Amino acid sequence: MSSSLIFTDSSTSTTSRLLPFARTTNPFNAPVFFRRLVGPLHMRPFASSSLRTLSIRSSNTPSPVINDKSGGEASAKVIDGKMVAKQIRDEITAEVLKMKEAIGVIPGLAVILVGDRKDSATYVRNKKKACESVGINSFEVRLPEDSTEQEVIRFISEFNNDPSVHGILVQLPLPSHMNEQNVLNAVNIEKDVDGFHPLNIGRLAMRGRDPLFVPCTPKGCIELLHRYGVEIKGKRAVVIGRSNIVGMPAALLLQREDATVSIVHSRTKNPEEIIKQADIIISAVGQPNMVRGSWLKPGAVVIDVGINPVEDAKSPRGYKLVGDVCYEEACNVASAVTPVPGGVGPMTIAMLLSNTLSSAKKTHNFQ
Ligand code: NAP
Repeated sequence: MSSSLIFTDSSTSTTSRLLPFARTTNPFNAPVFFRRLVGPLHMRPFASSSLRTLSIRSSNTPSPVINDKSGGEASAKVIDGKMVAKQIRDEITAEVLKMKEAIGVIPGLAVILVGDRKDSATYVRNKKKACESVGINSFEVRLPEDSTEQEVIRFISEFNNDPSVHGILVQLPLPSHMNEQNVLNAVNIEKDVDGFHPLNIGRLAMRGRDPLFVPCTPKGCIELLHRYGVEIKGKRAVVIGRSNIVGMPAALLLQREDATVSIVHSRTKNPEEIIKQADIIISAVGQPNMVRGSWLKPGAVVIDVGINPVEDAKSPRGYKLVGDVCYEEACNVASAVTPVPGGVGPMTIAMLLSNTLSSAKKTHNFQ
């Protein structure tokens, strides 16, 4: 599944201060709507620098998860992604303010949206609101569905050269006539806050190399494990799903943290047997309630990335969102589990903000 087909529970509740849309001219005479949330305070020349991913730690961390549950009683700890994401955003807000006051620089995130998919528009709106809530500048380009690949790449180039932009995000999926690889490859690796550039993924996979940015959803999963004190080193981990945006980078991250990692995918035989050996499970499949309680090792820690709509006559919307893992059953067996919604979802946007701040700090050599 491509990223913008994702149902997300990561919307923010911040008050919007959006400025009205302003129509701007562009080299292609395409109708482009460029909306700036907060104007750049100060412009400095863009300095090429080696960026590292940011891992923000809070002093107010949740208590550690103890992996010694023998199973039976419904006492799994709930890993509260909403609460952790709020902590991280508070930390980012403070850092953004500190940077603005010290050197007059405000981090900036540019988002390019092509076409008029409602779900993509919602994700972009949520990202912009999130930027605003922490004081990060947000820039947006909207292009019509029939834009050419070259037009999109021209805007990416403009943002690549704009020193007030520290992160560039192309909302996926792109219209089918575009080559996603060509477009994503055009993003300057130093502004690739989504972490999808092949160079960033390649560095993630290689020992002794550091990616400039790590993809946001897998990074959010690992951050949850860290903040809940879950030991990763030496543990057996299973990642269910191998997509470029979640499963594959999640497995690479776990391996970098010295877990012994197996990947389960749609062609895996006897997935239950493999999953049952895992101390840590990250599931990113997109199949509601696929992983049953009986598939889990007692005391396992479950990070459920899946966001799946299922019919629910009681809900005014007619559906509710559930994860890949049967939550009620997992609560009886696991030592800790993320809920859906309210688990990984809120972490994804928090990590995007974290990557953008990290990019701005590196660019301006600000500690
Ligand atoms: P995807 O690109 O469709 O990948 C799904 C993966 O699951 C594939 O690798 C597929 O295997 C594997 N799979 C499918 N059926 C399977 C089965 N029966 N058993 C084992 N593996 C199976 O999906 P995605 O983009 O990674 O997203 C996965 C889920 O995470 C979705 O529910 C999505 O909405 C959610 N998500 C949430 C967030 C968030 O912020 N919380 C972010 C991203 C995604 P093959 O490779 O063999 O096809």
